[in-house]
Amino acid sequence: MNRLLIVEDETSLASVLQRGFEAEGMHVDLAHQGDTGLRLALEGEYDAIILDLMLPGLDGHRVCTAIRAAGLWTPILMLTAKDSEYDEAQGLDTGADDYLTKPFSYLVLQSRIRALLRRTARGRPQRIIAGDLVLETSARRCIRAGRDIALTSREFDLLAVLARRPGTVVSKSALLEEVWDLPGESDPNVVEVHVSALRRKIDRPFPHKLLHTARGLGYRILTDGAP
Ligand code: CA
Repeated sequence: MNRLLIVEDETSLASVLQRGFEAEGMHVDLAHQGDTGLRLALEGEYDAIILDLMLPGLDGHRVCTAIRAAGLWTPILMLTAKDSEYDEAQGLDTGADDYLTKPFSYLVLQSRIRALLRRTARGRPQRIIAGDLVLETSARRCIRAGRDIALTSREFDLLAVLARRPGTVVSKSALLEEVWDLPGESDPNVVEVHVSALRRKIDRPFPHKLLHTARGLGYRILTDGAP
């Protein structure tokens, strides 16, 4: 489960964001002041931090600088009501990874956070192993039963999402969101096409099939029987 810290002094906005990201399956902690946010950031082992700029206690720039000075490279998305280029540059200079100006769309924030989580390998294994399938995420290499299999970037991402949770059914809409960054209600045909291509590459040459369809629900990787 991804752990997210939201440092935001507008309590109603903070609560709305907390509920939204919890509904995405994340663990979310809130801080309403810069100093408490910094303390949590240093102790909490988060996968990403949403940090408001104008905060009581300690402002967002100083919180960000202190987090980086402590040697912590958790991805930080800074939120602010200011939108001049100077502020953006300053935010990125203090070590923020991304920047969003208020008012913002929740959907945009959500997809930026997903992008930050994808970019960081922190807390995630570099190798995903499911049965005789091995995915090396940094090299984007796929190996089954010792044999290298060439995958496109989308095929790799799709397989990685499924292989991270062997046995768990992942719906087409969840795949559209996670792999394509599309709304879940988009045309699922793109998922089906990529799943067929993946099957030809990772399953057809092997007696044990890894990629299974849960009819009407989605797809999953089953490793039972594979060495
Ligand atoms: Ca504020």
